[in-house]
This record gives sequence, structure tokens and C-alpha cells, in this order.
Amino acid sequence: IPAGGRKPDWLRVLSPLHPDVFALRSRLGQDGLHTVCEEARCPNIGECFRKGTATFMILGNLCTRACPFCDVEHGKPFPPDPREPLHLSAAVRRMNLRHVVVTSVDRDDLPDGGSSHFAAVVETLRQNVPSVRIELLVPDFRGCLPLAVETLSRALPDVLNHNIETVPRLYRKVRPGADYSHSLDLLSRFRRMHPGLPTKSGLMLGLGETDEEIASVLRDLRSAGCSMLTLGQYLPPSKTHLPVDRYVTPEAFSDWERFALREGFQQVSSGPLVRSSYHAEEHARELFST
Ligand code: SF4
Ligand code: SF4
Repeated sequence: IPAGGRKPDWLRVLSPLHPDVFALRSRLGQDGLHTVCEEARCPNIGECFRKGTATFMILGNLCTRACPFCDVEHGKPFPPDPREPLHLSAAVRRMNLRHVVVTSVDRDDLPDGGSSHFAAVVETLRQNVPSVRIELLVPDFRGCLPLAVETLSRALPDVLNHNIETVPRLYRKVRPGADYSHSLDLLSRFRRMHPGLPTKSGLMLGLGETDEEIASVLRDLRSAGCSMLTLGQYLPPSKTHLPVDRYVTPEAFSDWERFALREGFQQVSSGPLVRSSYHAEEHARELFST
């Protein structure tokens, strides 16, 4: 349905004004850790933080890019904090997480795009919390992809996630610093080098894409060997961000889920409030138990 007026009821979320949400926020803040949940003002924070789950954002909270759909702050970032891997693994242990999603801002300023910091996080987690399943949601490492893939290969996660975000026609508007074929290349390189490692990607719907374009991106992702998929509704974090073009109904999301499964994805999460890391633990569990 076209955007405008009141948001549809299916986009109602749990309020973030809850003692458990405040408590987790303040504990993570004391450790100097950032979450994409807070930095990107994810609508699911009320639900996820109450359950005690969060998606860690490493390498600072200032991004070298400024995608017009994203609320993460843009600026000149600080050098990576060498204590961050230890702080993060201590938080994961304290939160008793069985599955952790780690992402980062884009670090076009670093020669390896921040990949060695990702590898340090994986190594430290493996040492200190060996039972936790690790999902990395990586940036596109544009300008240093071969080096980044090699570096990440030294400390492999359990799931490698990279969001394609939207259809190629809308890249200039939505992801001006990125390139569609480059993102596909990242996913297929990983797949070729590590055939046993599931790769995951996701798209936001409601930015002006057509159904034919969505279908074609899903086929491209399958050709790149991607086996896990998330589809969710784009919601502008504020009035100054890219406007939403339409609200995709829950029924249409279910149709896309069926379509994606027919195309060969093994695990699909498709719904208005689905985000890349939404219910990530349950989805990975489903995949690893099949
Ligand atoms: Fe946000 Fe990622 Fe774009 Fe940075 S690169 S502005 S974190 S979407
Ligand atoms: Fe955080 Fe992901 Fe939950 Fe959003 S869906 S609050 S980013 S864990």
C-alpha cells in the first residue's frame, strides 16, 4: 500500500521504555560498546533488548559513509580500540548469548577496511566464549576486498552476512558509496573459498523497487551461493531520511518467503519488522539443525 498518513498497524512494536532495555543500554555503555540497535534506532530494540539480545557494532560509531536510509552518524572515525574484542567477549559471556551478531560501521579510512579487527573479535570470542555461534554482518570492503576476505578467512565466523540492501537501479539513491556487483562478488568469493560456511544477505522493501527487480536480486543472490535471506520493510529513521515509497503487506512478505524458498534459499525470514539480525539465533539454529 502506498506510503502516507498513518503507519499500518502491523508495524507496531514493543516500547523501548522498559527497565530491562535501560539496564542493558547502561551496561553496554559502561563497557564502551556500541550496538547497531541503538545507533541505527532499530524499531525492534524494545523487543530484542528485553530478551537480552543485541547486535554489536565494532570499530566505533562514526561511519565514513552517509547512506540516506541509515541513522548511524557520519564522521571521521577514531582508530580501532584494541581492547574492544575483550570487552565484547566479556559482554557476550555476561549476557549468556548462544548466538552473537557483530557488525561495524564502514571504515573506508582503514587499509584493510577493518577486517583485521573483525578477525581479532572472532579469535577472542573463540578463546573466551567457545560455545557461542558467531555471525558477522560485514561492510562491503570496497577497495580492499581480496585482502579483507583473506584476513577474515584466518578467523572464520559461523555465518557470514552482507546486506545487498536494495535493487541495483536504486543503488545510487540508497547506497551511493556502494556497488551492486561488488557486494555480490563479496558473497560469492566467500562461498567459493569456504563452501561449508553459510552466507546470508538481506533487502529492505518499500524504497521504490518493483516485484520483478526483487525477484531478480533474489536470483542473483542464489547464484552467488547465498543460502540465508532476510526481507523487511524500510522505515525512515527520521523525516530527513529517504522517504518510504510503500508499505508491503504481511501477506506479500509471506509470498516473498515462499518464492525465496522455491528459488533454493534454505532459511528465509520475511516480514515487515524483519531486520538483518532480527531473531538471528533462531534462524541460524533452524539452519544448523537441518
Ligand atoms: Fe549506515 Fe552502513 Fe551506510 Fe554506514 S555504510 S551509513 S553504517 S548503512
Ligand atoms: Fe538490534 Fe537486530 Fe534486534 Fe534491531 S533486530 S534491535 S538491530 S538485534
